[in-house]
Amino acid sequence: MNPADEELITAARGARRFAYAPYSRYDVGAAIRDAEGRLWTGANVENASYGLSICAERAAVAKMVSEGSRHIASVAVSNRDGGTPCGMCLQTLSEFAPDPESVMVIVTDDAGGISRHTLRDLMPFAFRSDGLGRD
Ligand SMILES: [Zn+2]
Repeated sequence: MNPADEELITAARGARRFAYAPYSRYDVGAAIRDAEGRLWTGANVENASYGLSICAERAAVAKMVSEGSRHIASVAVSNRDGGTPCGMCLQTLSEFAPDPESVMVIVTDDAGGISRHTLRDLMPFAFRSDGLGRD
């Protein structure tokens, strides 16, 4: 594995330690590398009002975007069973991935398994802003 991917996976695993998941007990950590090479991490944050919970991937996107970064280069996710990001997260990631074929999503599990997917493979028909009539 290349050192950049190893660093991204390590960051996702580290972020997972901060997961707040008392309801599902499904801890998730995510790390994003942006186009400038910076890393952004997130963990899932649940709420007693379940619908208010935010996934690790979207937490990482919120940190990245709210600090001025707009372009995702790669993503790593850490959870116990290698679950891929949910649809809501894939749509959110797609917003900041103009070329989803080039964005690798690496998922790791507790058994040491690693799977790799392009964002396009996971979300082939993301909704795009092209049709919104924006300038
Ligand atoms: Zn999600």
